[in-house]
Amino acid sequence: MESCIFCRIAAGGTATPLLYEDEEAVAFRDIQPQAPVHLLVVPRRHVASLNEAADERFLGKLLAAARKAAANAGLEQYRVVVNTGAEAGQSVFHLHLHVLGGRVMAWPPG
Ligand code: 5GP
Ligand code: ZN
Repeated sequence: MESCIFCRIAAGGTATPLLYEDEEAVAFRDIQPQAPVHLLVVPRRHVASLNEAADERFLGKLLAAARKAAANAGLEQYRVVVNTGAEAGQSVFHLHLHVLGGRVMAWPPG
């Protein structure tokens, strides 16, 4: 989808370096990092949010991609977050997993 920033980044059409790539997903650094390491794991195909992702195998691969991207970034301990819907903090409506690490995390997240 040409109007979607994450579609364009995943297609390699921007200056954003891709830190991890597989057939289903890519990972790159968040432009406004909330931790020393803050990656976004994004499927290549446009899916608006977790609620629109019907394919459970695809979801499993996305989670595995988050684990691999975290390992590639040197993270052994990290948090994976999927904001789903505006009230939950979703601002880009192309499904993405936040991978946050490199510091101690607080809970609850607020
Ligand atoms: P959400 O708020 O939807 O859960 O997360 C969207 C994330 O995407 C935010 O953390 C925001 O900083 C990041 N973001 C938005 N636009 C861009 C962009 O153009 N490039 C990168 N690398 N990150 C972006
Ligand atoms: Zn998209």
